[in-house]
Amino acid sequence: MSTSPEARVAELLGPRGSRFARRGHFAYEGGAHGDTWLALDLLFVDPRRARAAASRLAASLAAHAADVVCGPLVGGALAAQWVAAELDAGFAWAERAPSGYLVPPETRALLRGRAVILVDDVINSGVATRACLREIEGAGGRPVAVGAWIARDAGRLRRELGLPVEVLAELPWQTWAAGECPLCRAGAALDEPEEPANLLTPE
Ligand SMILES: [Zn+2]
Repeated sequence: MSTSPEARVAELLGPRGSRFARRGHFAYEGGAHGDTWLALDLLFVDPRRARAAASRLAASLAAHAADVVCGPLVGGALAAQWVAAELDAGFAWAERAPSGYLVPPETRALLRGRAVILVDDVINSGVATRACLREIEGAGGRPVAVGAWIARDAGRLRRELGLPVEVLAELPWQTWAAGECPLCRAGAALDEPEEPANLLTPE
């Protein structure tokens, strides 16, 4: 495929997509540095765009015949709910907890004995994905596929999870511990992330 990952992401995210997924030199909240900055949560303020992306993702996930689509709060669940509606499936969400991710007790019964697709907006290393899959299985659900708007490496996820993984765009990116950042070593100044208020303003 000749289209660059950046072009596919921009196409997925709409006319202002490049402002929600930027390349550069960034310091993340946890202290690590990286070459990519994503603010997909802010895309969900435009339900039409979220629905359009969900519709495309749902089409690629339909063959897996899920009873329920589950996503981690925040962005993952917002994406998963649209996908669930498109697939005419049930919807469950998982909340971050000290031990990983937890489906609220009152909705766990929804997963028991059911085929479940896990949907997230962005999958980075897959740590959250694995935590959610464990929680789904712990609630008696049967994961049948994983879907995401953007994944850092879908092939590696397929191999590691042993599940079909459908993504709308793959965007490889790099992160480093702050002391080991080659961009710092090369003397590159840090880029400022986009002000959230600017991303919420209509064109
Ligand atoms: Zn750096």
